[in-house]
Amino acid sequence: LTAEPTTTTAVATHCPYCALQCGMTLSPEADVTPRQFPTNAGGLCQKGWTSPALLRSPARLTTPLVRTDGELRPASWDAALDLIARRLQELRAEHGADSVAAFGGGGLTNEKSYLLGKFARVALGTSQIDYNGRFCMSSAAAAGMKAFGLDRGLPFPLTDLADADAIVLVGANPAETMPPFVQHLRGANAKGGLVVVDPRRTPTAEQADLHLSPAPGTDLALALGILHAVVADGLLDQSYVEDRTSGFDAVWRIVAGYWPEQVERVTGVAAADQRRVAALLARARNAYVLTARGAEQHATGVATVSAWINLALALGLPGRPGSGYGCLTGQGNGQGGREHGQKADQLPGYRKITDPAAREHVASVWGVPAESLPGPGRSAFELLDALGTEGGPRALLVFGSNVVVSAPDSARVAERLSRLDLLVTADLVLSETSALADVVLPVTQWAEEDGTMTNLEGRILLRRKAVDPPEGVRTDLDVLAGLAERLGQPAERFPTDAETVFTELRAASAGGPADYSGISYERLRDGEALYWPVPDERHPGTPRMFLDAFAHPDGRARFEPVEHTGPAEPPDAGFPLLATTGRVLQHYQSGAQTRLVAELNDTVPEVYVEVHPDTAERAGLAHGDLARVTSRRGGTTARVRCVGSMRQDVVFLPFHFPGAQRANLLTNPALDPTSRMPEFKVCAVRLTKEDGA
Ligand code: SF4
Repeated sequence: LTAEPTTTTAVATHCPYCALQCGMTLSPEADVTPRQFPTNAGGLCQKGWTSPALLRSPARLTTPLVRTDGELRPASWDAALDLIARRLQELRAEHGADSVAAFGGGGLTNEKSYLLGKFARVALGTSQIDYNGRFCMSSAAAAGMKAFGLDRGLPFPLTDLADADAIVLVGANPAETMPPFVQHLRGANAKGGLVVVDPRRTPTAEQADLHLSPAPGTDLALALGILHAVVADGLLDQSYVEDRTSGFDAVWRIVAGYWPEQVERVTGVAAADQRRVAALLARARNAYVLTARGAEQHATGVATVSAWINLALALGLPGRPGSGYGCLTGQGNGQGGREHGQKADQLPGYRKITDPAAREHVASVWGVPAESLPGPGRSAFELLDALGTEGGPRALLVFGSNVVVSAPDSARVAERLSRLDLLVTADLVLSETSALADVVLPVTQWAEEDGTMTNLEGRILLRRKAVDPPEGVRTDLDVLAGLAERLGQPAERFPTDAETVFTELRAASAGGPADYSGISYERLRDGEALYWPVPDERHPGTPRMFLDAFAHPDGRARFEPVEHTGPAEPPDAGFPLLATTGRVLQHYQSGAQTRLVAELNDTVPEVYVEVHPDTAERAGLAHGDLARVTSRRGGTTARVRCVGSMRQDVVFLPFHFPGAQRANLLTNPALDPTSRMPEFKVCAVRLTKEDGA
């Protein structure tokens, strides 16, 4: 395949992968050069540099595939869409609207996220829709909502970090996940103020001035210990707490019992280091607390993030110019993906689906009665787990997600998918999930289509079409419109042009927390830096939030009283180690894209398990051996990497690999009670020599 130029001039666009959305330029021949943009300042990581390979990949699907006699075989678009619509109608007639479900992704553009949510609620009439962002930053979103009344990953421009004296990064490894981000840490680093909290000595931790290595699942306790030190050492920002917050006393009643020496016994982090972080943050003129997946992907993810927000509030950081709390969103449109209605409990504009006024507003934009809109559905893992079970969905449409690799307890998820009467995927290539489907629809990607993304700062970007797609593929918007029409919807209700969809999204978001109504493609084409909310076309956007007031009705931020409870699955004699999962520089999410890029995949072609040399030796293993890592749910085979800086009680596996190499064969689907985030970051395992190795 060759990517066909759509213009004769280079197109300024953005990277297809992570939430940094680095600026790049694509030539008519689809060659990439970095572009000055505030998040990357002219830098790109290996993933960005090699991204044009995705446009030329021989693995691209270019015709619909329909399973016939057990095999996926080429079919025409009409035949594939007719088949899907007929089966959906049969299932709905026989089992009700909630027998069909949709699953989206945090990499989909705002327009796709919006239209998918509308398609599910209006064309399918189902409540059963959620997306893979539930596995990503939902705990920080819920904690941010509780604390501030509104959640925007970073409520300030990333470039503000340059003037920080101290930054505490909790469970974030941007040196691998988004390398150009690291330049924004240099100011704090130069002043000796960069602290990284991570059980592993990651490449980011290597650069830190202080690395705290708590046992997995204990970072909530660590935050309480540091907060205790803040108060005990007289570092509390008393006037900020009194003027801008509520609920501190209830938090202190808990935190008073978490003195640093006790927290040291729970976390393994020295009491002196806890006090050092408290002093570093309190004495800094400008300071930030930033969390990411390491804090969030727990069955106590919301409480864990709340504990770090409590610390930031006690120090008076949020809503203070040059300081703050923020969450580093991971997926390319992780922020926008959670704002436009593909989440089980939300409508566009980041509105609650249970709010009568929100339902009235969105229904009026959609031209349907508010009472016809379904209520909230199951969260991502609960939806996947219910597939094919009594009362659960019998058909699933998947857009922009590869759940067979990325969902927890992935053997169970694959088994549930196999029970379905109909599994449909819209995909670029035959991912592991598409390989199980009954119908696979080949769709456009990234530089082959227009669309907007909302980066980790809440800044809306126009990602412009630069090349023509291969013949035979269609956009996700075309797919949704084609299905909606076959399901009896008027054509004008499901437009296929991205700008037209965005215009409708603006109207649907108007007046909501994430208000896009003042953003137009024209303003984005003109290069305006627009951070939501943007409530009208003359509004300059909101780069910094909460400077005057938080979004709760009383304008105050709220402390959230939280206790340390530990991992859902502590180690025992049968499973004596803790496994944690994460990412590597060369791969993105499930690896469906990056495993196709030779320069990336040749460097890290298979799963591995990082383990302390003494732990390996006790299991009879040496560096380079094949190990069997087994949890209560299953096992995976991984090459041993002995790493002297690892904690002896912890092993680490990247989760980007398919088949028997899936780290998510191990992970625990215990869910956070609020965010419904699974516990990806810690489960009990044992390590043995692989039979025959
Ligand atoms: Fe930038 Fe992320 Fe793309 Fe790397 S993957 S070039 S950090 S947007």
